Amino acid sequence: MQLLDGKKCADSLIAEIGKRVAGYVEGGLRKPHMTVILVGEHAPSESYVKSKITTSGLSGFESNLIRLPETIRESELLAKIRDVNDDPTTDGLIVQLPLPKHINSQNIINAIDPAKDIDGFHPANFGRMTLGQKAFRPATAYGICKLLQFYNIPIKGKHCVVIGRSNIVGKPISIMLSNDFDIGNATVTLTHIETPRELLLDETRRADIVIVAVGIPGFVTPDMVKEGVVLIDVGINRLESGKIVGDVAFDAVAPKCSWITPVPGGVGRMTVAALMINTLNAYQNNFNLA
Ligand code: NAP
Repeated sequence: MQLLDGKKCADSLIAEIGKRVAGYVEGGLRKPHMTVILVGEHAPSESYVKSKITTSGLSGFESNLIRLPETIRESELLAKIRDVNDDPTTDGLIVQLPLPKHINSQNIINAIDPAKDIDGFHPANFGRMTLGQKAFRPATAYGICKLLQFYNIPIKGKHCVVIGRSNIVGKPISIMLSNDFDIGNATVTLTHIETPRELLLDETRRADIVIVAVGIPGFVTPDMVKEGVVLIDVGINRLESGKIVGDVAFDAVAPKCSWITPVPGGVGRMTVAALMINTLNAYQNNFNLA
C-alpha cells in the first residue's frame, strides 16, 4: 500500500504556480488576486478559509477576506457579490459554503461572474465542464484528478465507482473521470443513497478506483473493495474527540489498497491547490496570457 500524499502533490503544484506568478510580476503585471466571502461564524469554514488565504500567499497571490454577519439578507449578499464581480483587480471569488439556512445557496452561486468562479460551481462552468469544454472545474474533483495524475495512476479504461452524488464532489468527479479529458476516459458508476446495498457492493468490489464522498466515518470497510484498489477518501468528519477522519475505515482497509489517500493530508489539500490553479487561470484569462 502506498499513500497518495495530497500535501506533497499540493506543495509541488503551489511551488510551480509561485514561479509562474513571480515571472508575471517581474514582467510588470500585478499579482493574481483572490477574494473570499465568509458569512457567519462556522468553525470548519473558518479553518478552510484560513487554509485558502494562507495557500494563496504561498502561491504569490494577494487575497482579501470579506466577513459578513450570519444575519445578512440574501439581497445584501448578492449586492456584495456584484461589487466583487465588477472589481477588475479581483480575479477569483469564493463564497464559502455552507451559507446560513435563510440564504438560497444556488442563487448565490448563480450570481458569481463565471469568469471569477474559481470553485467551478456556477452552472455555466459546470455545463461547459460536462460538455468537455474549457471551464473552471469544481475544485475538489479537479484536485482529485491532479492527485491521480501526480502519482501516474492509470485512469483510462479503468472501472471507477463514486459513492455520493453531491454537486460539489460526487457528480463532477464522475463526469470528469468519464469525459474524454487528459485525466479521464474511465468507465464510471455513480452511486447514492438510493443505490441498493447489494448493488453498491457488487460495484465497489470490482472497482479499480473507488472515490467516496458521503460524510460518514468508516463507511468504506475492507469487505467492500478488492485487493489492489485505488481508494480516494473525500470525507472530512470531525469526531467528538476532535479528531478528523474520512469516510474510510483507514486502518482496516489500507492493507488491501494499492494506493490510498490519508485524511487529513489527502484530498483536502488538493482542493485548495486546485483553487489556486483556477485562480491562476482566471488571472491568465484576464491578461490574455497563455
Ligand atoms: P453531501 O452534500 O454531504 O452529500 C453526501 C452524499 O452522499 C449525498 O449524495 C448522499 O446521497 C450520499 N450518501 C449518503 N449516504 C449514502 C449511502 N449510504 N450510500 C451511498 N451514498 C450515500 O456530500 P459532500 O458535500 O460531497 O461531502 C461529503 C464528504 O466530503 C463530507 O465529509 C465533506 O465534509 C467532505 N468534503 C471534503 C472536501 C475536501 O476538500 N476534502 C470537499 C467537499 C466535501 P443523496 O444525494 O441521495 O442524499
